[in-house]
Amino acid sequence: MKTIMAVGAHTGDAQLTCGLMLSRCAARGDRIVTLDLTAGERGCPPHLTQAEFRQMNVESAAQFAKMLGGKSIVLDTPDGELNYSKELAVQIGDIMREYQVDTVLYHWKNSMHRDHVEASRLTTDAIFYASLKSFERPLPPAPIRHWYYAENWEDSEGFVPYAYFDVSDSFETWREAVKKLYLTEHSRDFKYLQYYEGLARMRGALIKTEYATAFNIDEYAKRIRPEV
Ligand SMILES: [Zn+2]
Repeated sequence: MKTIMAVGAHTGDAQLTCGLMLSRCAARGDRIVTLDLTAGERGCPPHLTQAEFRQMNVESAAQFAKMLGGKSIVLDTPDGELNYSKELAVQIGDIMREYQVDTVLYHWKNSMHRDHVEASRLTTDAIFYASLKSFERPLPPAPIRHWYYAENWEDSEGFVPYAYFDVSDSFETWREAVKKLYLTEHSRDFKYLQYYEGLARMRGALIKTEYATAFNIDEYAKRIRPEV
């Protein structure tokens, strides 16, 4: 059994952009963990307070994870105020150690949203601190072997999908789980479900299947040794 962790800047990011992959991994018996670095409470609708909306997002993230048999963690960093610090990167790395994470899915380095840029940098360093054997922490290092950058409509600058995964069999599970999120059903700003369903359909067509999810990887990892 492997442990797959998806890290998002706000509740909704990991579930919408990595959820199809999480659903696929859960179906084959892997453990899945979502880690939201903020609860996204500043997207609060007018009839709720930020504290109420925060609580609603924390609960919906928990429901999403539960529907995939996994675990949700939401940090208490205020939305819009996510800032890089070594302390926070080490804290995230310690959570990766606690769950003995094998694979991390997270934000691409460029984004129109400042929190996403900070989340990407924090997660990159967290992976380093979590895996480094000589970095002494109370818990043993996490066996992280793979990390992938998620396709997020806000993080599109310079993003080129590279690794495609067939998620046809787990699409409906994800679709039901992601409807637990407020954003999916109520956002007037952006049609999240329409976008991510359509994206999965389009990525699926490119690999000749029904639905697919695609991720980018580091440039240095894009090396092949063709046998000619
Ligand atoms: Zn976000």
